[in-house]
Amino acid sequence: MSVGARLRALRDRLPPRVTVVAVSKTHPPEAVREAYAAGQRDFGENYAQEWRDKAAALADLPDLVWHFVGSLQTNKVKLLLGAAPPRAAWVHTVDREELARELSKRATARGAGVKVLLEVNVAREPQKAGCAPEEVPRLAAAVGALPGLELRGLMCIPPAEGDPRPHFRALRALRDGLGLPDLSMGMTADWEAAVEEGATLVRVGTAIFGARPPRP
Ligand SMILES: *Cc1c(COP(=O)(O)O)cnc(C)c1O
Repeated sequence: MSVGARLRALRDRLPPRVTVVAVSKTHPPEAVREAYAAGQRDFGENYAQEWRDKAAALADLPDLVWHFVGSLQTNKVKLLLGAAPPRAAWVHTVDREELARELSKRATARGAGVKVLLEVNVAREPQKAGCAPEEVPRLAAAVGALPGLELRGLMCIPPAEGDPRPHFRALRALRDGLGLPDLSMGMTADWEAAVEEGATLVRVGTAIFGARPPRP
């Protein structure tokens, strides 16, 4: 199946409230163009330098909406919010105040707002990024007060093993407590459960682009 056909099959199964973020990490710019031709506009990337190079190669498509969904070091923020467009419109992985401050500083300097989600380590996995669930209210208050950032909601990557639903539910409950609109949850293996549990953004790579080539 082509990228376009896979995208259409996915969209046909999603309620209209859900935005598909097509995760194009390690795929070439041509794969993004193929999805674009099928009407896709929201794309996700994981690595700041890879995003920068790819976004530059696709700068002739001005209405692309870039979502950064990878772990983000503070010193890489300048790649996402550089002096000239393209810039990341969304960052799904804010998990500490220091990172939020840097995003705010760069966004304000560029006069470009950034939509942000707080990444929550829902299962408290030691190797995973994300703030602890009990830190969410404090971090949300801090991020919500920073200029240049629009706090939209929460994001999680549940453990690879086991039922993701309890984690999706817990994230939703946290989000409801904050009164925020968005929930970024669900990937190729579990987007259906995530949508049933209230996802508004699903981050899907393999089901759209096929198996990922290794990172160069
Ligand atoms: C790679 C990645 C995805 C997409 O994963 P698939 O299983 O290929 O759909 C989604 N979210 C994040 C954070 C990722 O790193």
